[in-house]
Amino acid sequence: MELGSINHLALTVSNLQYSEDFYNFFLGFMGYEQGEKTEHLILWFSHNGVVTISPANPSSPNQNHDRYSPGLHHLAFSADSREQVDELYQKLVDRGVEILDTPAEYDYLPGYYAVYWLDPDGIKLEFVHTPNWPPTEHPDSC
Ligand SMILES: [Zn+2]
Repeated sequence: MELGSINHLALTVSNLQYSEDFYNFFLGFMGYEQGEKTEHLILWFSHNGVVTISPANPSSPNQNHDRYSPGLHHLAFSADSREQVDELYQKLVDRGVEILDTPAEYDYLPGYYAVYWLDPDGIKLEFVHTPNWPPTEHPDSC
């Protein structure tokens, strides 16, 4: 791993079973394999790293994730091509997933092409293809 690269990502979900199916679906599309599974954690791994989900504290208020509150705003995964972005989009639609923004080119960087959707708890997810990544110029946003 390169210095400072993201090593793993650990998310908390309200319904572990439901989110397992959801994450397995799109992480599998992206080449992740499911690994360790306990009642406290489910793990996926690929050559790009590790993603885990864990159940929320049952005593926590049951509320959707708010990306405009302190914490995670959204999480983006890289695509190899625009066609992959379109393909995942179609699979998300077929599955009835709530799409935030359909595949389109965005002005953040030249050629930035992405789709955005919500996980079962309202966490915003993104699948993006950029011709040149990491950026050599400062992105406007992303
Ligand atoms: Zn983004």
